[in-house]
Amino acid sequence: MDSIEELMIAFEGTYVGQSMAGLVELYSTIENQTSVFCTQYSIACGSGCGTCCEHFMPDITVSEARMVAAYLLFVKKDEALIEALNSARGNTSGPCPLYNPDSPYHCTVYQARPLICRLFGACANQGKDGRAVFRRCKYNVEQTMPSSLILDEDVPVMQDYSYALRSLDDGNGKVGYLSDMVSILVEQLRFLANMLTLDDTNPDDTPTPLAS
Ligand code: SF4
Ligand code: SF4
Repeated sequence: MDSIEELMIAFEGTYVGQSMAGLVELYSTIENQTSVFCTQYSIACGSGCGTCCEHFMPDITVSEARMVAAYLLFVKKDEALIEALNSARGNTSGPCPLYNPDSPYHCTVYQARPLICRLFGACANQGKDGRAVFRRCKYNVEQTMPSSLILDEDVPVMQDYSYALRSLDDGNGKVGYLSDMVSILVEQLRFLANMLTLDDTNPDDTPTPLAS
């Protein structure tokens, strides 16, 4: 398999396929809306920066973990990376085991990366007074983002995306650190893939990442 689209086809008719389809739709909405927001307010990451991934272990839901696990198993087919994730179980502060400065955008699962990785530094938060607030990422030493913005306009906020994500989940609201969650879902997916006799014998061909 070469892409998330092919993964969805392979798992079509199962809860895994449904879960992936819902996530892909949400991620696509996020991609479009954060892109418009960042352009509108001149928000950009520093060139080549991936510092957040060095200091961070994402908190993710079951459906997000399943997407990353499926991507590693059937698209990347990277057992070494799966082993690295296993070794990082219990690590709550990073670096993220999927971080690789030599990968495009520094993320070995860029197409399947979780929601927080798509939003960090790229959207506003809802402040206590209900208004949207954007604050520059603390690692953005080049100051390619505005220091802070308080916005009365209707802009995308992190909380709305989190609610949308939770509404998709089949894990009763369970969240956990990426290395723990993905390792568990890898084992579940191996079992399911055996039952579905999925073909994972194609050579590795990592898709070209989308622009962030
Ligand atoms: S969010 Fe911050 S640390 Fe992460 S890539 Fe952007 S500027 Fe760098
Ligand atoms: S999943 Fe990718 S983008 Fe997210 S913290 Fe890990 S390396 Fe960074």
